[in-house]
Amino acid sequence: MNAQNASIVVARHYTAHVPVRLEWEGESIMCNQLLDTRTAPEYWLAPGLMDVQVNGFGGVDFQAENLTEADVAHAVHEIQAAGCTRFLLTLITDEWSRMVAKLRHLREVRATSARFKHALAGWHIEGPFLSAEPGFHGAHDPALMRDPTPELIHELRTLTEDDLVLLTLAPERPGAIEAIKLATSLGIVVSLGHTNADGDTLSRALAAGATGFTHLGNGCPLMLDRADNILWRAFETRGPMFSVIPDRIHVSPPLFRLIHQVLPVESLIYVTDAVAAAGAPVGRYHLGQLEIEASPDGVVRQPGHLYLAGSALRPVEAVFRAAEMLNVPWQQAWNHYSTAPAEWLELPCSLAAGQPADFCLLKVSPNGELQELRVFVAGEEVVQNPSHFADYQRGEASSAA
Ligand SMILES: [Zn+2]
Repeated sequence: MNAQNASIVVARHYTAHVPVRLEWEGESIMCNQLLDTRTAPEYWLAPGLMDVQVNGFGGVDFQAENLTEADVAHAVHEIQAAGCTRFLLTLITDEWSRMVAKLRHLREVRATSARFKHALAGWHIEGPFLSAEPGFHGAHDPALMRDPTPELIHELRTLTEDDLVLLTLAPERPGAIEAIKLATSLGIVVSLGHTNADGDTLSRALAAGATGFTHLGNGCPLMLDRADNILWRAFETRGPMFSVIPDRIHVSPPLFRLIHQVLPVESLIYVTDAVAAAGAPVGRYHLGQLEIEASPDGVVRQPGHLYLAGSALRPVEAVFRAAEMLNVPWQQAWNHYSTAPAEWLELPCSLAAGQPADFCLLKVSPNGELQELRVFVAGEEVVQNPSHFADYQRGEASSAA
């Protein structure tokens, strides 16, 4: 170990609550030692957040065609500055050949920089094999939906080579169970979402290899049959990882708490489902062909429509909102949005020696308010834009009102 090039931070470990000395060199953590001291360091140390569903960020819509390296660099910088060191870039339903062209282009952009390769841990393909039923399709265009076929699954795998790919589909579509078997045999991770599948179909999808359920409580109609609906069926399902959007808007606080009581807590992961409006001023943006509007309360909708179209949630804010809804310390929420998704997708996410030096330093007030966030990615500190932190704090104040 060359101590001259090593960097060191002393901070309180977010779960052990004791001071640790983290040492890293270049992009990797060298060691992480407990310190025998009674002095409490001012910062908490936690691993970088990981988001498996990001449609856009910082004013950049990942659904746009021909995104430039500068666009991707801006979005990556903004999301990392908000605590999320790695994420799955998400493409939603589009005409298949257009979706494939965007994916091919984004892979080329990703290949231009080591920083992009690290930040964009993989791809989340959400559509077009989703339910076209009213309410279940959400902000996706039902006219562009289609059944999965072996040819399309092979095309997706060939295009993405050995990239991490998460595919969200509705298992009730004709051919979906066979598609899940094929996709998982090719190393694609399959999650169920935008679905109105019956319990038997959900079970068959899991037996076929699906391991996730996408944004539980969303991708379904505003009104549900109280006797039998996709929420109750999901609540009875054991096995998959369930993602939830903890912005207080996509899932109400009582439902959010109920999800944590009914489902095994280790099966819950948080996602922002962020769109271009996240980490950007209030106003109008695009989500592919859709015009969307972010209002001051953080709600993102198509103008004139009731359905939500992604979120404007910033990653670190997701942790603190989740903790507030559950009335638990923020440290308890952090793992649902870092180590839990990482374990599911077999990505590194820990503060152990040999791991990428991706971590957050947080200053938190005694009453649980985030006062400062510093983020390190591959050993380098991400430059913060102070005005964004002020925006975040204003957002917290207004949403708590
Ligand atoms: Zn969705």
